[in-house]
Amino acid sequence: MIKAILFDMDGVLYDSMPSHVRAWHDTMSEAGVPSSMDEFYLFEGRTGQSTINLLFNRTFGRDASPEEMDKLYNRKAQRFTELESPEPRPMAGAIEVLEKVQALGLQRIIVTGSGQHSLFDKLDKHFPGFFDRNLMVTAYDVKYGKPHPEPYLMGLKKGKLLPNEAMVVENAPLGVEAAHAAGIYTIAVNTGPLPDKVLWEAGADALYPTMHALSENLKQLMGRG
Ligand code: CA
Repeated sequence: MIKAILFDMDGVLYDSMPSHVRAWHDTMSEAGVPSSMDEFYLFEGRTGQSTINLLFNRTFGRDASPEEMDKLYNRKAQRFTELESPEPRPMAGAIEVLEKVQALGLQRIIVTGSGQHSLFDKLDKHFPGFFDRNLMVTAYDVKYGKPHPEPYLMGLKKGKLLPNEAMVVENAPLGVEAAHAAGIYTIAVNTGPLPDKVLWEAGADALYPTMHALSENLKQLMGRG
């Protein structure tokens, strides 16, 4: 029996991926690290550190130093906040999904690789009463980050749940991979530019093009899992 839904944040609850992608690309370009905009959709879900080291190794053949890491991570977060100003945009249909999940009596837990305070601080405003800050897994809780199952396993632990008592809503291939590896039924919502195929191959159990479409099918999905 399903007791909880574990929600990824960027690209699921917030329409924030275009700003993340631009912020990453701008930050790395300033640092002399070549990258393409689209590849950041493939890196989505990784911790910031892991993304920085991946690009550093590709370009310079080494990890970033702790100083470089701090500087780049802070610059990216600052650029993201600028791009999202004056206000981050909730994903269309996200409230509809949350209302149905709440009406079904299911717990809501956020599991994100993000450490972006500009979004965490707005959750209560944009999604009032839907989330409990104690039931949240963020970049500050995890060591490995997605695609490792760790963040989702931690989400299960925080909610005192077994894998078959939860479902995950994810938009990114690495996020789907993490949830699938944690043994949880994974609903992919393809809100970005990647082909559906990438999400199916990552292990999605169901796939919808929008949060609105998920909302329409949510009740029916509950019978599965
Ligand atoms: Ca995401």
